[in-house]
Amino acid sequence: MAGYDIRVIGDPVLRQKAKDITDVDDALVRLVDDMLETMYEAPGIGLAAPQVGVQKRLFVWDVGMGPEAIINPEIVESDGEWLFEEGCLSVPGLSWEIVRPKTIHIVGRDLDGNEMSFEADELESRLFQHEMDHLEGTLLIERLDDETRKAALKTIRDLQFGSNGPARRSTGDGLTLP
Ligand code: ZN
Repeated sequence: MAGYDIRVIGDPVLRQKAKDITDVDDALVRLVDDMLETMYEAPGIGLAAPQVGVQKRLFVWDVGMGPEAIINPEIVESDGEWLFEEGCLSVPGLSWEIVRPKTIHIVGRDLDGNEMSFEADELESRLFQHEMDHLEGTLLIERLDDETRKAALKTIRDLQFGSNGPARRSTGDGLTLP
């Protein structure tokens, strides 16, 4: 019952750069648990702290291998190109084909302070890149070309997201589950 409301496009918190995490305390551990609960309820496969209104560099995910969380993540390498239909829990019900690097190497810390390092490909890589964007205050519509973005913004205005927004499709944050 500790789930958060997911912030939707138009909320200024989604446009702010998140801050580095310097301490892992009980409150942060609770935040991670609550974010995971919120993500599963949505349902989604990834969720970044700014999406629940918290300006911290942290995201959680589960691509079917169990819940994970990463603190102060950084993409240290990226390669290739991959076109994929991407959605976002903060832009509910909509998705667009977006090109991003196909593979990335991401590093960060877990809640115990241990180093995390993943070489991710395709779906997982896309998810990580999408969540990293949230930590920079970037939404997926900024990854669209000008014309597509204008049309997207019009659609979003017409839909008037809010507490009584449109029914959500089962898109995960960052990608559509196969
Ligand atoms: Zn998102």
